[in-house]
Amino acid sequence: MELKLYDTLTREKRAFKPLDPGNVRMYVCGPTVYDFAHIGNARPVIVFDVLFRLLRHLYGADHVTYVRNITDVDDKINARAAEEYPNSPLNEAIRKVTEKTDKRFHEDVAALGCLPPTHEPRATEHIAEMKTLIERLIANGNAYVAEDNVLFSVRSMPDYGKLAKRSLDEMIAGARVEVAPYKRDPMDFILWKPSKSGEPAWPSPAGIKTPGRPGWHIECSAMSWKYLGEMFDIHGGGIDLVFPHHEDEIAQSRCAFHTPVMANYWMHNGFLQVEGAKMSKSEGNFVTIHELLKDWPGEVIRLAMLRTHYRQPIDWTIRGLEESAKALDAWYAFIGEVTPAEQPDQTFLESLCDDLNSPQAIARLHQMAHPPVAGLAMAGATMSGDRTGVEAQRYLKSSAMTVGLLWKTASQHQAASIAAASIDTVAVESLIAARNAARKEKNFSAADRIRGDLEKMGVVLKDTKDGTTWEIAR
Ligand SMILES: [Zn+2]
Repeated sequence: MELKLYDTLTREKRAFKPLDPGNVRMYVCGPTVYDFAHIGNARPVIVFDVLFRLLRHLYGADHVTYVRNITDVDDKINARAAEEYPNSPLNEAIRKVTEKTDKRFHEDVAALGCLPPTHEPRATEHIAEMKTLIERLIANGNAYVAEDNVLFSVRSMPDYGKLAKRSLDEMIAGARVEVAPYKRDPMDFILWKPSKSGEPAWPSPAGIKTPGRPGWHIECSAMSWKYLGEMFDIHGGGIDLVFPHHEDEIAQSRCAFHTPVMANYWMHNGFLQVEGAKMSKSEGNFVTIHELLKDWPGEVIRLAMLRTHYRQPIDWTIRGLEESAKALDAWYAFIGEVTPAEQPDQTFLESLCDDLNSPQAIARLHQMAHPPVAGLAMAGATMSGDRTGVEAQRYLKSSAMTVGLLWKTASQHQAASIAAASIDTVAVESLIAARNAARKEKNFSAADRIRGDLEKMGVVLKDTKDGTTWEIAR
């Protein structure tokens, strides 16, 4: 099975050839831990988790290294810490903010069914590697010291701007930033800067006396180098990171190591908007993963995310969540308690290998959940790979599990849905008993009233010849 991936750098979809099939290496930019992660932050985490799982399937679980960093030194963290803990020393306040945010982030992404990456390095634990890179860039003539800052000289790299497909002159024209007087060129960017009093600070590189701290971009060049080497296979992140963050990572790494590329495939997920509008706190449509998880199981959120191809913009809607919840209910009802097949379905896998075409893969799951019925299946029965009975159930499960879905059994799913909907099952059962008693006494108005009460609790009744069952309303 050939995996094809779209590369932002060359603007083409091409066959994936790892540098070393024995160790496929992927780096994805992780969170800055100062605030609860919003649903837009969840998109790259889910998308690259699917790719991580697919690579593990194709190359073997022990032959893939996935690195996702944690940015724990940043101006936004400092500002949040000062605001939230005004009476604590800044360093202590920063520790509280980053610890709390980091813990919540890990809880959130675990609830979304994401595997932990192989390494999750923290910026503050890799200052030495950053300083080594910075000094190397100065020695190579790609960086310079100015007023206790170290800056990368963009004019020193002839193809700076290649990822963003913009020339330096276009960038300068587009930049409306105030240009610091010590910059040789307006687009030169910070590798290291002096810390203000009270801010986190480390001894500076390049003989600078004032203690300082790293710029944002250098941490990813340093940590990818440490865990994946000078060149690696895949670098991922949100489309908003293409410029300047990824452009600057490329400049740093390539100039430090004199390599033709930093990574062979640059993958970017599209934007996310909420109910047709750009997400922002001022619009009141800022959705955190934590809030969403109160109303929806993580698996529903995961499926809702994967219904759109990762490179397309996604419109995050309640309707999309409702439809995903319904689909999962139907799939779980179909698979029951079966064990997964050894392998996923071939057609499903082919869709995933086509630049992670998850909407097409999900369409295949729907198709697999509706196998041809024996005796009724005219044309349908001849469709390639279609199975019947337990085989159909087992292949649906093994395929969905490849992308981190349907890992539970039907009964576990039912229990989780009840818990997520905060339904009191004892109360439901006693109301059903009361309704049955009313019906026995032919008191139909009372029976209907109880049914209405249950509906208000989000419970739908089904009367069969074997008695009354119930399920959660969707
Ligand atoms: Zn990065």
